[in-house]
Amino acid sequence: MDESRRVRAEAWFRYADDLGLGPFYLSRTTQPAATPAASAESSEVARTSVEHPIAAPSNLRLAVAAPASFSAPAPMTAPRPASGFVPTLAAASLFEERIENDSLERIRADIGPNCLRCKLHKARTQIVFGVGNPKAQLVFVGEGPGRDEDIQGEPFVGRAGKLLTQMIEAMGLRRADVYICNVVKCRPPENRLPENDEIATCSPFLLRQLGVIQPKVICCLGACSAQTLLQTNQGISRFRGEWFDYRGSKLIATYHPAYLLRNPNAKGEVWKDLQKVMAVLGLAPKRK
Ligand code: URA
Repeated sequence: MDESRRVRAEAWFRYADDLGLGPFYLSRTTQPAATPAASAESSEVARTSVEHPIAAPSNLRLAVAAPASFSAPAPMTAPRPASGFVPTLAAASLFEERIENDSLERIRADIGPNCLRCKLHKARTQIVFGVGNPKAQLVFVGEGPGRDEDIQGEPFVGRAGKLLTQMIEAMGLRRADVYICNVVKCRPPENRLPENDEIATCSPFLLRQLGVIQPKVICCLGACSAQTLLQTNQGISRFRGEWFDYRGSKLIATYHPAYLLRNPNAKGEVWKDLQKVMAVLGLAPKRK
């Protein structure tokens, strides 16, 4: 099916679903099944092995002046306009219900301290809700807590988290300026990819978090969050670095910091994406 027909069909199904005529499908999330390689590996760093699909990305661009780390930013470039490539429905449904007077506290309370909604509860230590500025202009969305996050109760505090912090600081921001959260709030066992049913169960809380914060920019870290929010199963390389409209926010997807730990050569691409975010937010790169 060509792209425009698929988008129209999805719009129709979603509309019908909103009217209660469904279900026509089991889940709105379209997370692909974990690759054998991804599920076989167990470390936080290995988890985002789906960043590069096996097929060569069609829009692969060469990294120019890739920073060795995120402490030496390259010159800022203007953001490209949205390319028109829309992998999926990103707009709010006409019939979307928003919870009146919703707040992060209320969402946290709704999840509860001992959520049993999905099987991730069995192995987790604690729920990792999210952290940062509740009025942030920029929200980073990861995949799910890893071991360190599960222990500390805060997202992105492990090795990948330290790299994310460097990325944030290279943008001239502090961690406390942004908001950081994940698609699933409980650690998947052995750091495996979150499964469809887990994403379907937990992502409504992420959507509410984004609805409350209403950031100017959402930066998806890795395929899981990008695919969940954009409702696509396309590989992230196909649309990384492109702008999308997401319920009044601008959304951009970039590679996950854990992927960068294994593939430092991709830092240049990520830095280019972050520069686009900075341009939208009117941020100047940090001077050394
Ligand atoms: N990876 C994620 O996607 N989220 C975290 O919180 C930590 C590692």
